[in-house]
Amino acid sequence: MTTTKAHRKLYFFVSILSCLFFNNTLISQDSKPTNFVIIFADDLGYGDLGTFGNPTIKTPNLDKMAHEGQKWTNFYAGASVCTPSRAAILTGRLPVRSGMASNKQRVLFPDSKYGLPANEITLAEQLKTVGYNTACIGKWHLGHKKQYLPTNNGFDYYFGIPYSNDMDRIQGEEYKNYWERSNDSIKTEHFNVPLLRNTEIIERPADQNSITTRYSNEAVSYIKKHKNKPFFVYLAHNLPHVPLFASKDFLGKSERGLYGDVLEEIDNGVGKILETLQKEGLAENTIVVFTSDNGPWLPFKLNGGSAGPLKAGKGTTWEGGMREPTLFWGPGQIKPGTIMDIGSTMDLFTTFSKIAGVEIPKDRVIDGVDLSPTLFKREESPRKNMFYYRGTEIYAVRSENYKAHFVTQGAYGQFGEREEHDPPLLYNLGEDPSEQFNIAEKHPDVLESINELIDQHRSKLIKGKDQLADRE
Ligand code: MG
Repeated sequence: MTTTKAHRKLYFFVSILSCLFFNNTLISQDSKPTNFVIIFADDLGYGDLGTFGNPTIKTPNLDKMAHEGQKWTNFYAGASVCTPSRAAILTGRLPVRSGMASNKQRVLFPDSKYGLPANEITLAEQLKTVGYNTACIGKWHLGHKKQYLPTNNGFDYYFGIPYSNDMDRIQGEEYKNYWERSNDSIKTEHFNVPLLRNTEIIERPADQNSITTRYSNEAVSYIKKHKNKPFFVYLAHNLPHVPLFASKDFLGKSERGLYGDVLEEIDNGVGKILETLQKEGLAENTIVVFTSDNGPWLPFKLNGGSAGPLKAGKGTTWEGGMREPTLFWGPGQIKPGTIMDIGSTMDLFTTFSKIAGVEIPKDRVIDGVDLSPTLFKREESPRKNMFYYRGTEIYAVRSENYKAHFVTQGAYGQFGEREEHDPPLLYNLGEDPSEQFNIAEKHPDVLESINELIDQHRSKLIKGKDQLADRE
């Protein structure tokens, strides 16, 4: 045999081997479904993470998510307060459609009659259709009665406080005084909130000092227990919503005070989850996303977060109310980088359904779009618009970098009374992320095109029956 022939044979053999190996690699990757973990903070500000510029709160694990994954700087919650925002993330729909937004009550309370309507489809229900194990850990706030709990909305398992951690306040404590109280005088026993496992109350009042770490540990053990099948974990922390509590290991540790202690405890839990995924060999086929339900609750001063460069906070349709510090992590899947395109929590419904191979419901309007081309290839985000509702009314609309405010209104005694604007206020969020310089006069064409967007949106809008207004 000549040398050339021997080389050719060797080349052929190596090619076949590498082909087999390569194909096997592909096959094994393809055959592994993607797991999903959503970590949802409560009332976290845009400026509260190290990676989003906070100078005194240490968040090394969230910073790692940003460094190894994608950091989204224009990512929005579906509403500026808890209940509607949670309806949005789980259904992929603006809460006005499900009736989970109201002009009479902004959120659900422990004496509310209703919750997420049974005919709404949650992301958990979507993923169940292809065999996912599903867990909801933490704050639910979509109805506390049995028929509305996570276990009746596509989740196999629930562990958490079913509404906000400041509810069920004990008699005799004036809530308004809390706004001025020292942290030392605020005790977890003052809030008689229940802790549920599935549908049973296992602790009341829930010990909120340890709740953050207990939630993270529940997520870790659920992941370990279900590592051989695809899973979806929705970990919705009750904190840093006030009242703030931290466990002994974190109390008094942060330069930022109690709010920083709480964030550092949440960050520690994120670290445990990432570490578990890596140790169990799940990191390559799991996507973890971290975001929050709405902006910081500013009247609580040091006990509220910071919106960083953004205007106002929770309860408003200014950027500080709805733009959230958002991170996607998934080594081997998520293409690292900073994404300045627009995204929304509603998009998780569509994106994760598509990745899992579940069809998007066709019998209703779904507001979510598929972000996977941006996540996997850093292609342009398909989301170009964002509608900012307060209750059932459109207050503002973002189209590309332009945002028009038709109505502005502060919240919780800050940022002014309701004001209608005709012509609307117009800001370029690219040049002016703090919404300081109204440029409406210069851009009548932009306002015209935003009005067309609203007309299109309204032509397909069927408002759901108000689920929040009625109380016992
Ligand atoms: Mg909230």
